[in-house]
Amino acid sequence: MLTSRKAAAPHANRLLGCWHARLRATSTSSPTYFAGYRLSLYRAHKPIEFVYFIETGVGSLVNTMANGQAAEVGTIGNEGVVGLPIMLGDDRAPTSVYVQVPGAGLRIKATLFKKELERSISMRAVMLRYAHAFFNQVAQSAACNQFHSLEQRCCRWMLMTHDRMKSDEFLLTQEFLAMMLGVQRTGVSAAAGGLQRAGLIRYKRGNVTILDRRALIKRSCECYGVSKKEFDRLLGDRAMRTGRSGRM
Ligand SMILES: [Zn+2]
Repeated sequence: MLTSRKAAAPHANRLLGCWHARLRATSTSSPTYFAGYRLSLYRAHKPIEFVYFIETGVGSLVNTMANGQAAEVGTIGNEGVVGLPIMLGDDRAPTSVYVQVPGAGLRIKATLFKKELERSISMRAVMLRYAHAFFNQVAQSAACNQFHSLEQRCCRWMLMTHDRMKSDEFLLTQEFLAMMLGVQRTGVSAAAGGLQRAGLIRYKRGNVTILDRRALIKRSCECYGVSKKEFDRLLGDRAMRTGRSGRM
């Protein structure tokens, strides 16, 4: 389910910053609430009609194989935007994006967003830095899947999701966690069960509650810290201040 409300959602997307008010003021953009788990934000090989600046929740970039098997290859939260192909000059991609953890964000018509990008050099610069940071996240995940344990990767994913949520509790089905980690559901049960027994999380009826974030960081692999550092370097407060010196 995807609904729009007149009331403004609190601004929380780190990319939008000072452009938030301008984009919100346009007649074709509105706060959108991604209430639907597995809601499609765009589909592989189909024209992308909207870009989404997520405020809470998580979008999942998914690659589906010819036999129907799907794996998550990247995640997008309030540090980013769903619709990278648009800012890179294309209107479609071989991957799809689904709502993985329901939340809220700003939905903007792709055609309008392209016009804004053409108008603002500084917005373009920030969006390209995000594209770079996102590529780095995907590259880190590819290496992580190769070398790090299921439990380490599970901790990393919990931390990345926790960073993007306003509360310690969020919806997470075993099905999606299995897709994210690239394992069978039984593997997910074992990993989540281990973290639960150790008192790091509570996992009940598809809801995760983070109980001990510090311990999760200790058990996670280096990849959580590496990706976070890269995002902060490219899109942290300091980078955003210096990156906005151009024409708005
Ligand atoms: Zn790793």
